[in-house]
Amino acid sequence: MAAILGGGLGGLSTGYYLLKNNVTSNNNLKLFLLEATNYCGGWIKSIRTKDYIFEQGPRTIRPKGIVGLNTLNMMQDLGLSEHIAPIKPGHPAAKNRMIYVNNTLHLLPSSLKGVFQRNDPFSKPLIYAVFKDLKQPIKEMKDDSIYNFVERRFGKEIADYAISPMICGICAGDAKEITVKFLMKTLFEYEQNHGSVMKGFMKSIFKTKNGQELELSELARKAQEEKWNVYTIKGGLETFPTILHEHLKENNVNISLNSKVEEIEFIDSSTVKLKKGNGETLSVSHVYSSIPSHALAKLVQKQHPELAKSLGEIPFVTVAIVNLYFATDKPLISPAFGFLVPPIENSPILGVVFDSCCLPDQKGTVLTVMLGGKWFEEKFGKDITEKRLLEIATKEIDSILNIKDKPAAHNVNILNKCIPQYVIGHYERVDKIRDYIQNNNLPISVIGSSYDGIGVNDVIYSAKTQVEEDCVK
Ligand SMILES: Cc1cc2nc3c(=O)[nH]c(=O)nc-3n(C[C@H](O)[C@H](O)[C@H](O)COP(=O)(O)OP(=O)(O)OC[C@H]3O[C@@H](n4cnc5c(N)ncnc54)[C@H](O)[C@@H]3O)c2cc1C
Repeated sequence: MAAILGGGLGGLSTGYYLLKNNVTSNNNLKLFLLEATNYCGGWIKSIRTKDYIFEQGPRTIRPKGIVGLNTLNMMQDLGLSEHIAPIKPGHPAAKNRMIYVNNTLHLLPSSLKGVFQRNDPFSKPLIYAVFKDLKQPIKEMKDDSIYNFVERRFGKEIADYAISPMICGICAGDAKEITVKFLMKTLFEYEQNHGSVMKGFMKSIFKTKNGQELELSELARKAQEEKWNVYTIKGGLETFPTILHEHLKENNVNISLNSKVEEIEFIDSSTVKLKKGNGETLSVSHVYSSIPSHALAKLVQKQHPELAKSLGEIPFVTVAIVNLYFATDKPLISPAFGFLVPPIENSPILGVVFDSCCLPDQKGTVLTVMLGGKWFEEKFGKDITEKRLLEIATKEIDSILNIKDKPAAHNVNILNKCIPQYVIGHYERVDKIRDYIQNNNLPISVIGSSYDGIGVNDVIYSAKTQVEEDCVK
């Protein structure tokens, strides 16, 4: 018997790959999935009505790279191809991404031509950043913050107005703390190995690429050919975990909702006991943990305090989401993906997504305001109410987008400790966690957004990699 801990996308994907690799049928292995709440899908939650969809967690998925194509393979396999809504290159949501600086919305360049022109709030065309990189001497380092790296190589304006808001948009974090390896590992290696990013990049063009191969499904090939920017699922992203959940149930995975695991006891290298909140115990030969690292830390604390310490050191931030629906015939916004606010602007909001432009099946104007993240407590304290967050969000919408209408519907949610922060040293910490598990022969694999990447694609790929590694052991 094996058990998956957690029924978010990481746990569901682990079940999918265990079935796909015939791990259960070949070994006559009974598979359990234990989820603490009454819902499988974790942070993926959609509120659907006939007029609008409010996404409370993720809303779009990137199709690019091996991890993006892998997700599309899985979508096709699950019969989701017809439900995919791509945003293609010509679409305003693909071209128009903005930042809010000095009380004005500025479009970020989306074409090569734009790089040669001066665009506010930048004082020079972005191409000048390349010259700075070529002149700048190398600084030998093992790791660095993404902000420091970009400031050193390309200048302070790029760090403040391009990278810092991007980090807010991706992980609601502070670019001054997030490791450069989170998004720019290759660029950092170019600097460290070749003296500048551009020199490393030029040399890489002439090297034969020996990246991992992936057999592509029809859907993945279509996404490549049509150059999809991002995509979502018609009717809401929640359809994805719902279909995965059904797939696991149909294939005899024993899924227990409302089953919070309170403690893990390792007996030997192939026996582990899971103690549930209701006093029941489940004994299995292997555990695939997809719960957040801070939650796993508590479960292993008694027997393995050193492992618990490393797990507990991965920081998480809290984000508030305010979804707003305005029942208007004419859109209240110009077509775009939305805008982000750089932290130096010291705004109460992180950014706004224009859902009625990005997601299908929306009537009127639908917006999502994101607040908090790394600065949640600093800005709002510990006891902020949902009502107050709604007031803050609507005030900002009025002041930035000049929307005076009252929303016809809204939803406010405080997502406590929802996004892990890959701060400097993150990848070394994850190696330390996996080394400890291996050296102590613990029958557990760690999967999910705490370790191998924070996006939907990364979590699915993390499940695939961990399951396949266990299969070859
Ligand atoms: C606001 C927000 C916006 C996002 N936007 C995007 C986006 O646009 N695109 C994108 O690619 N990614 C996005 N992401 C990231 C994406 O949502 C995550 O990568 C993914 O959902 C994480 O899945 P997971 O399974 O690792 O973790 P989780 O979703 O956290 O699932 C963990 C599960 O474990 C359960 N659990 C916890 N403790 C226990 C226990 N003791 N016993 C049993 N069960 C337990 C939880 O209830 C939960 O169901 C966003 C995330 C957030 C929060």
